Amino acid sequence: MTYVITQPCVDVLDKSCIDECPVDCIYEGERMLYIHPDECIDCGACEPVCPVEAIYYEDDVPEEWAEYTTFNTEFFEVTGLGSPGGAARVGRAGRDVTSVAELPPQD
Ligand code: SF4
Ligand code: SF4
Repeated sequence: MTYVITQPCVDVLDKSCIDECPVDCIYEGERMLYIHPDECIDCGACEPVCPVEAIYYEDDVPEEWAEYTTFNTEFFEVTGLGSPGGAARVGRAGRDVTSVAELPPQD
């Protein structure tokens, strides 16, 4: 299991969550952040600091954002990042999964 970042993060990207993650498994796309499903240790530290409530435990992702569980996995495939074992050394990927890239600007 893992934690998942969902649509409210899109175009907010304040990165409060990154500072809380003890294993540095929150990676930066272009318009949102993504949690690596295999590197996340389910500690839950990131969830309460998100100002827009974008982060959910996998079992608790609201139905309207269910596809974001897949997006968080897909991101590491489409970027070719695989499992780098830490976001700091990777930096900004500069792209998102297609479904996020095609979203209209989020207010
Ligand atoms: S704290 Fe929330 S809005 Fe900010 S980058 Fe993390 S998931 Fe996105
Ligand atoms: S639940 Fe813990 S390990 Fe997983 S992304 Fe959040 S802070 Fe990092």
